[in-house]
Amino acid sequence: MNIILLGPPGAGKGTQARLLVEDRGMTQLSTGDMLREAKDSGTEMGKRVAEVMARGELVTDEIVIGLIRERLLDTSHTGGFIFDGFPRTLAQADALGALLDNMNQTLDCVIEMQVDDEALVARITARSTCGDCGEVYNDQTKPWPADGKCGNCGSTNQTRRADDNEESLKTRLLAYYKQTSPLIGYYYAKGDLKTVNGLGSVEAVAGEIKDALG
Ligand code: AMP
Repeated sequence: MNIILLGPPGAGKGTQARLLVEDRGMTQLSTGDMLREAKDSGTEMGKRVAEVMARGELVTDEIVIGLIRERLLDTSHTGGFIFDGFPRTLAQADALGALLDNMNQTLDCVIEMQVDDEALVARITARSTCGDCGEVYNDQTKPWPADGKCGNCGSTNQTRRADDNEESLKTRLLAYYKQTSPLIGYYYAKGDLKTVNGLGSVEAVAGEIKDALG
Protein backbone atom coordinates (compact mmCIF):
# COMPACT_ATOMS: atom_id res chain seq x y z
CA MET A 1 0.00 0.00 0.00
CA ASN A 2 1.30 3.45 -0.94
CA ILE A 3 -0.21 6.49 0.73
CA ILE A 4 0.23 10.25 0.90
CA LEU A 5 -0.17 12.28 4.09
CA LEU A 6 -1.30 15.70 2.95
CA GLY A 7 -1.68 18.72 5.19
CA PRO A 8 -0.18 22.07 6.20
CA PRO A 9 3.02 22.37 8.23
CA GLY A 10 2.33 21.23 11.80
CA ALA A 11 -0.64 19.04 10.88
CA GLY A 12 1.12 16.02 12.38
CA LYS A 13 2.15 14.24 9.17
CA GLY A 14 5.56 13.22 10.49
CA THR A 15 4.19 11.96 13.80
CA GLN A 16 1.53 9.84 12.11
CA ALA A 17 3.98 8.58 9.49
CA ARG A 18 6.26 7.31 12.26
CA LEU A 19 3.34 5.41 13.82
CA LEU A 20 2.47 3.83 10.48
CA VAL A 21 6.09 2.74 10.08
CA GLU A 22 5.97 1.07 13.52
CA ASP A 23 2.53 -0.51 13.07
CA ARG A 24 2.60 -1.56 9.44
CA GLY A 25 6.27 -1.78 8.51
CA MET A 26 5.83 0.87 5.83
CA THR A 27 8.67 3.14 4.64
CA GLN A 28 8.40 6.87 5.37
CA LEU A 29 9.59 9.14 2.58
CA SER A 30 9.80 12.68 3.96
CA THR A 31 11.24 15.15 1.47
CA GLY A 32 11.69 17.63 4.35
CA ASP A 33 13.92 15.12 6.19
CA MET A 34 15.85 14.34 2.99
CA LEU A 35 16.46 18.04 2.34
CA ARG A 36 17.56 18.65 5.95
CA GLU A 37 20.00 15.74 5.63
CA ALA A 38 21.36 17.22 2.40
CA LYS A 39 21.71 20.60 4.14
CA ASP A 40 23.54 19.12 7.13
CA SER A 41 25.88 17.06 4.97
CA GLY A 42 27.00 20.28 3.25
CA THR A 43 26.59 18.95 -0.33
CA GLU A 44 26.28 21.45 -3.18
CA MET A 45 22.54 20.76 -3.38
CA GLY A 46 22.26 21.09 0.40
CA LYS A 47 23.84 24.53 0.29
CA ARG A 48 21.49 25.62 -2.49
CA VAL A 49 18.33 24.54 -0.65
CA ALA A 50 19.30 25.76 2.85
CA GLU A 51 18.29 29.39 2.30
CA VAL A 52 15.09 28.49 0.49
CA MET A 53 14.07 26.23 3.38
CA ALA A 54 14.99 28.80 6.03
CA ARG A 55 12.70 31.32 4.31
CA GLY A 56 9.89 28.76 4.25
CA GLU A 57 9.61 28.68 0.45
CA LEU A 58 9.37 25.53 -1.64
CA VAL A 59 12.48 23.94 -3.10
CA THR A 60 12.29 23.33 -6.88
CA ASP A 61 10.20 20.46 -8.21
CA GLU A 62 13.25 19.13 -10.04
CA ILE A 63 15.23 18.65 -6.81
CA VAL A 64 12.49 16.98 -4.75
CA ILE A 65 11.28 14.76 -7.59
CA GLY A 66 14.90 13.65 -8.06
CA LEU A 67 15.17 12.76 -4.35
CA ILE A 68 11.94 10.75 -4.45
CA ARG A 69 12.92 8.99 -7.67
CA GLU A 70 16.19 7.85 -6.06
CA ARG A 71 14.39 6.40 -3.02
CA LEU A 72 11.72 4.65 -5.09
CA LEU A 73 14.40 2.93 -7.14
CA ASP A 74 15.85 1.43 -3.97
CA THR A 75 14.20 -1.97 -4.19
CA SER A 76 15.17 -2.96 -0.64
CA HIS A 77 12.06 -1.13 0.64
CA THR A 78 9.05 -3.31 1.30
CA GLY A 79 5.70 -2.72 2.98
CA GLY A 80 4.68 0.29 0.92
CA PHE A 81 5.57 3.96 1.05
CA ILE A 82 4.19 6.83 3.11
CA PHE A 83 4.80 10.07 1.26
CA ASP A 84 5.17 12.75 3.94
CA GLY A 85 5.43 16.34 2.69
CA PHE A 86 5.47 15.18 -0.93
CA PRO A 87 3.92 15.98 -3.35
CA ARG A 88 3.53 19.69 -2.63
CA THR A 89 2.76 20.97 -6.14
CA LEU A 90 0.66 19.71 -9.04
CA ALA A 91 3.84 19.02 -11.04
CA GLN A 92 5.13 16.83 -8.18
CA ALA A 93 1.80 14.99 -8.03
CA ASP A 94 1.93 14.26 -11.76
CA ALA A 95 5.55 13.12 -11.46
CA LEU A 96 4.71 10.79 -8.56
CA GLY A 97 1.86 9.25 -10.57
CA ALA A 98 4.22 8.60 -13.48
CA LEU A 99 6.96 7.15 -11.24
CA LEU A 100 4.53 4.74 -9.57
CA ASP A 101 3.07 3.76 -12.97
CA ASN A 102 6.55 2.93 -14.24
CA MET A 103 7.05 0.65 -11.24
CA ASN A 104 3.63 -0.98 -11.79
CA GLN A 105 2.56 0.39 -8.44
CA THR A 106 -0.50 2.33 -7.41
CA LEU A 107 -1.29 5.13 -5.04
CA ASP A 108 -3.86 3.66 -2.69
CA CYS A 109 -4.96 6.54 -0.51
CA VAL A 110 -4.37 10.24 0.11
CA ILE A 111 -5.09 11.29 3.66
CA GLU A 112 -5.77 14.96 4.13
CA MET A 113 -5.08 16.04 7.72
CA GLN A 114 -7.19 19.09 8.58
CA VAL A 115 -6.05 21.44 11.36
CA ASP A 116 -7.03 25.07 11.87
CA ASP A 117 -4.40 27.73 11.32
CA GLU A 118 -4.18 28.99 14.91
CA ALA A 119 -3.55 25.48 16.17
CA LEU A 120 -0.76 25.11 13.59
CA VAL A 121 1.05 28.23 14.75
CA ALA A 122 0.78 27.11 18.41
CA ARG A 123 2.03 23.61 17.56
CA ILE A 124 4.95 24.67 15.44
CA THR A 125 6.33 27.31 17.77
CA ALA A 126 6.26 24.74 20.62
CA ARG A 127 7.77 21.90 18.59
CA SER A 128 11.13 20.20 19.14
CA THR A 129 12.47 16.89 17.88
CA CYS A 130 15.09 14.40 18.89
CA GLY A 131 18.05 14.99 16.59
CA ASP A 132 18.91 11.29 16.72
CA CYS A 133 15.64 9.31 16.41
CA GLY A 134 13.23 12.00 15.16
CA GLU A 135 10.73 11.66 18.03
CA VAL A 136 8.54 14.78 18.06
CA TYR A 137 7.90 16.79 21.28
CA ASN A 138 5.68 19.74 22.17
CA ASP A 139 6.56 22.15 25.01
CA GLN A 140 2.95 22.07 26.27
CA THR A 141 1.44 18.70 25.42
CA LYS A 142 4.50 16.43 25.33
CA PRO A 143 7.49 18.20 26.87
CA TRP A 144 11.07 16.98 26.42
CA PRO A 145 11.71 14.75 29.48
CA ALA A 146 12.98 16.55 32.58
CA ASP A 147 16.06 14.28 32.78
CA GLY A 148 17.16 15.78 29.44
CA LYS A 149 17.01 12.46 27.60
CA CYS A 150 14.71 11.55 24.70
CA GLY A 151 12.02 9.18 25.96
CA ASN A 152 12.38 7.05 22.83
CA CYS A 153 16.15 6.63 22.39
CA GLY A 154 17.83 8.29 25.40
CA SER A 155 19.67 10.89 23.31
CA THR A 156 20.24 14.37 24.77
CA ASN A 157 20.13 15.95 21.30
CA GLN A 158 16.94 18.05 21.49
CA THR A 159 16.68 20.17 18.33
CA ARG A 160 14.40 22.90 17.02
CA ARG A 161 14.04 23.37 13.29
CA ALA A 162 15.47 26.63 11.92
CA ASP A 163 12.20 27.22 10.04
CA ASP A 164 9.93 26.65 13.07
CA ASN A 165 9.54 30.35 13.82
CA GLU A 166 6.60 32.67 13.22
CA GLU A 167 8.18 34.50 10.27
CA SER A 168 9.06 31.37 8.22
CA LEU A 169 5.80 29.77 9.23
CA LYS A 170 3.82 32.56 7.55
CA THR A 171 5.64 31.85 4.28
CA ARG A 172 5.22 28.08 4.71
CA LEU A 173 1.48 28.47 5.30
CA LEU A 174 1.17 30.73 2.27
CA ALA A 175 3.08 28.19 0.16
CA TYR A 176 0.70 25.50 1.41
CA TYR A 177 -2.43 27.43 0.47
CA LYS A 178 -1.09 28.68 -2.88
CA GLN A 179 0.80 25.64 -4.16
CA THR A 180 -0.18 22.54 -2.19
CA SER A 181 -3.87 22.87 -1.31
CA PRO A 182 -4.93 22.46 -4.99
CA LEU A 183 -3.84 18.83 -4.53
CA ILE A 184 -6.90 18.28 -2.35
CA GLY A 185 -9.14 18.82 -5.38
CA TYR A 186 -6.73 16.91 -7.63
CA TYR A 187 -6.88 13.75 -5.51
CA TYR A 188 -10.57 14.16 -4.73
CA ALA A 189 -11.26 14.10 -8.46
CA LYS A 190 -9.16 10.95 -8.80
CA GLY A 191 -11.21 9.31 -6.03
CA ASP A 192 -8.19 8.82 -3.73
CA LEU A 193 -8.94 11.40 -1.02
CA LYS A 194 -9.91 10.69 2.59
CA THR A 195 -10.07 13.47 5.19
CA VAL A 196 -9.27 13.16 8.90
CA ASN A 197 -9.51 15.66 11.72
CA GLY A 198 -5.89 16.37 12.66
CA LEU A 199 -6.80 18.33 15.79
CA GLY A 200 -7.32 15.40 18.18
CA SER A 201 -4.75 13.56 20.28
CA VAL A 202 -2.04 11.59 18.46
CA GLU A 203 -3.93 8.37 19.28
CA ALA A 204 -7.29 9.74 18.09
CA VAL A 205 -5.82 10.89 14.78
CA ALA A 206 -4.05 7.53 14.36
CA GLY A 207 -7.43 5.81 14.88
CA GLU A 208 -9.05 7.95 12.19
CA ILE A 209 -6.22 7.17 9.78
CA LYS A 210 -6.55 3.46 10.52
CA ASP A 211 -10.27 3.63 9.69
CA ALA A 212 -9.57 5.57 6.53
CA LEU A 213 -7.04 2.98 5.37
CA GLY A 214 -9.43 0.15 6.14
P1 AMP B 1 8.74 19.80 5.97
O1 AMP B 1 9.70 19.09 6.85
O2 AMP B 1 7.89 18.85 5.16
O3 AMP B 1 7.92 20.82 6.71
O4 AMP B 1 9.61 20.62 4.89
C1 AMP B 1 10.52 21.62 5.29
C2 AMP B 1 10.90 22.48 4.10
O5 AMP B 1 11.54 21.66 3.10
C3 AMP B 1 9.74 23.12 3.36
O6 AMP B 1 9.32 24.34 3.96
C4 AMP B 1 10.35 23.34 1.98
O7 AMP B 1 11.26 24.43 1.98
C5 AMP B 1 11.15 22.06 1.79
N1 AMP B 1 10.35 20.96 1.19
C6 AMP B 1 10.01 19.79 1.78
N2 AMP B 1 9.30 19.01 0.96
C7 AMP B 1 9.17 19.72 -0.20
C8 AMP B 1 8.51 19.47 -1.44
N3 AMP B 1 7.84 18.33 -1.66
N4 AMP B 1 8.59 20.43 -2.40
C9 AMP B 1 9.28 21.56 -2.20
N5 AMP B 1 9.90 21.87 -1.05
C10 AMP B 1 9.85 20.97 -0.05
